[in-house]
Amino acid sequence: MTEIRLTNTKTRRKEVFTPIDPKNVRMYVCGPTVYDRAHIGNARPVIVFDVLFRLLRHVYGPDHVTYVRNFTDVDDKINAEAQRRKDAGDPRTLEELIRERTDETIRWYHDDMGALGNLTPSAEPRATEYIGQMIAMIADLIGRGHAYEKEGHVLFRVRSYKDYGKLSGRSVDDMIAGARVEVAPFKEDPMDFVLWKPSTDDLPGWDSPWGRGRPGWHIECSAMSHELLGESFDIHGGGIDLQFPHHENEIAQSACAHPKGEFARVWMHNEMLQVEGKKMSKSLGNFFTVRDLLEGNWSGGWKVPGEVIRFVYLSTHYSKPMDWTDEKAKQAMATLRKWRAQTRGVTPADEPIQYFAETLSEDLNTAGAIAELHQLSHAHDQPNLLRNARLLGLLTDELGGWEDVGPADGADLSKLDSIGRWISAAREIASQTKDFSVVDRYKRELVEAGVEVRMSKHGVELTPTSDFSSERLWRIERT
Ligand code: AMP
Ligand code: ZN
Repeated sequence: MTEIRLTNTKTRRKEVFTPIDPKNVRMYVCGPTVYDRAHIGNARPVIVFDVLFRLLRHVYGPDHVTYVRNFTDVDDKINAEAQRRKDAGDPRTLEELIRERTDETIRWYHDDMGALGNLTPSAEPRATEYIGQMIAMIADLIGRGHAYEKEGHVLFRVRSYKDYGKLSGRSVDDMIAGARVEVAPFKEDPMDFVLWKPSTDDLPGWDSPWGRGRPGWHIECSAMSHELLGESFDIHGGGIDLQFPHHENEIAQSACAHPKGEFARVWMHNEMLQVEGKKMSKSLGNFFTVRDLLEGNWSGGWKVPGEVIRFVYLSTHYSKPMDWTDEKAKQAMATLRKWRAQTRGVTPADEPIQYFAETLSEDLNTAGAIAELHQLSHAHDQPNLLRNARLLGLLTDELGGWEDVGPADGADLSKLDSIGRWISAAREIASQTKDFSVVDRYKRELVEAGVEVRMSKHGVELTPTSDFSSERLWRIERT
């Protein structure tokens, strides 16, 4: 069996992965707050943990892995959007408008993440469907002395959990000095965080022993992971921005409510995504949603196929900051066109090559795995190229189709430039030898690819027509 090794953020070491129960390997990843379209940073953990999900299924069997990723569907930003619609004259109740907003955002999320070739997790719990479990867990924490009620709020007593701060390597006193915590009159200690807070009559709320209110964000993940995966499970993932305070708080809640359980054994965090070397932000004009890339509404100005986006993400190791650039996307597109042309009609090998699975198993080395795909392509080993690429969720039937026929894109135009240079060189030779067969072959292949070819003493002009086939273009090779 392939040995998987993963860097555990909790121990800061690369460890051999040994599941609690190989018949049911369990992973929880913090999902999105569903108030708007996912931005391209949000797609990073989805792709990273999708590859891990695929690898676990490959090693332990597809029926032996449970992957849970939640939807946070109770949040101020969701309420604000619903309120905007109401203010704009929508006659429906705020509750109906909230439901509409979360439902549509979840639909978009599924469309967008599906377009990037991600599998659907085994379960996608919505926080609002687990309020009962959250209330029970909070009541239990109060009973054990780890939480207290004050003015309709319930707070977690951070000083009651001695290991608080271990995941992110901070001490409670450092954290207070860092002053990233909210001081409030209802807190015994500024570090304490909210488990439950009161809700006004017009906003979503649930009856509880502490009055009508709603859960804090952190308790959602503790309650849902416990309900669906148990007191101890294998892997917990999310972006590095969640390590503190979100994951630290999840650990405190779960460890104190279930002292016999281990909560998550392995913690994994993906690094952040940037755009052209800069932090993504609306004010810099480099903030894009996944949909923006798919539809060409971004600074690159061209429609990036989902498979190309996926390839770009997998080219950087998850533990390193990743830079989205136009240049990388074009290169990825060129590579995928070549591979798709190469593997057209090919039957994939039965199993991935052992060394390929081993590369991927080395802390999810997706960049190394892609390097091996390049080698298989150079070696013209199409059945293995196809099978191994599919372990990464690339070259699948679902993601294909974009490379067939359509308007030429940036990558096609650069390929055309190259072919133009090849023809010019071939013409020069032909003018000496009087053998024009090579030039004629280029011309014939270009016409078959729907490219108009004009040659004059000034040079070669290649123009894609409405019959343009990118797939055929990329089959043209240099003589
Ligand atoms: P949120 O909806 O903001 O809670 O984020 C959902 C997921 O996206 C979390 O796992 C975040 O860590 C992750 N995330 C947010 N921004 C970025 C980014 N720029 N790069 C990578 N991951 C991100
Ligand atoms: Zn979480």
